[in-house]
Amino acid sequence: MAKRSAEKTAGTGPARLWAPWRAAYVRAGRRGRRPCIFCFGRLSEKTQRARLVLWADSAASVMLNRYPYNNGHLMIAPRRHLASPELLRREERQALAELVALAVKRLGQALLPDGFNVGANIGAVAGAGFAGHFHWHVVPRWEGDTNFMPVVSATKVLSQQLGESFALLAPLFRAPGAGEPPALQ
Ligand SMILES: [Zn+2]
Repeated sequence: MAKRSAEKTAGTGPARLWAPWRAAYVRAGRRGRRPCIFCFGRLSEKTQRARLVLWADSAASVMLNRYPYNNGHLMIAPRRHLASPELLRREERQALAELVALAVKRLGQALLPDGFNVGANIGAVAGAGFAGHFHWHVVPRWEGDTNFMPVVSATKVLSQQLGESFALLAPLFRAPGAGEPPALQ
């Protein structure tokens, strides 16, 4: 019962959405079955697409959450496997902050949400799925989406949506020049 309520109340706003497909994912994480999705080396374009990575450089990465609270749910992580923001270098924290702002802007342009939840769950008790690797969540919100989500909870619909979201968002995060981070403009 305690576990169940922890899952339900994890985080702030986004957890109020009903996202039943997250249950298996959360349970697997508790059993330590998942390798860290934020730790990866150089990815081919194909692998990047398969892993839903929209952007990555030496400091940070942006990816779509495979088990989203809502359509367009992004996660923004440092490349180093560290559990909490105070362990990061200042330039890493700055890179993450820039990417959070960029994510809000690009999601706003692409998906026209009415608002966002932006936050981080630090520690498993706070609801972190990957407690060892700090990351920000950016979750678009639409008026009435708490009622809408149960309707789109079928896995098939969701995976199709993920592919569509990736195709829509990936070009928006592409760097203007090789090696440059995506610019907020
Ligand atoms: Zn990691």
